[in-house]
Amino acid sequence: MSHNSKSLPALPVRKAKDRLSKINYCDVVGIYKVQFFDDGLINGINILANKRAILSGLDMDYLGKPFDLVARLMSIAEYVTKLQGICTQCGAGAFFSPRLSKSKWKILLGERKEYEVLCRACFYD
Ligand SMILES: [Zn+2]
Repeated sequence: MSHNSKSLPALPVRKAKDRLSKINYCDVVGIYKVQFFDDGLINGINILANKRAILSGLDMDYLGKPFDLVARLMSIAEYVTKLQGICTQCGAGAFFSPRLSKSKWKILLGERKEYEVLCRACFYD
């Protein structure tokens, strides 16, 4: 389910390669929050070569450091669309998502209470 409450049928996946190799019943596969997957997703995507795969996820963590897996996926993708948010401080295009809470966990699920969206200038200010 998306943040705006739109939903589609979905399968939970623990290990990407194992699950993706068993998908035979659809032509399009969407994978959400790819930054949380293991490296098996790279091989899994290649298994899906005869299908259309649409992946989404963050390219950087809350410190502004790239998620290695996402960088690799972007390099092998045929098309990449990088979306921007709106900076909560100045209204410019934004793609940094620093954490508002003090948690140091690499992965922390949350929305507006946990993260804000900033442009490069405000992020490094
Ligand atoms: Zn800004």
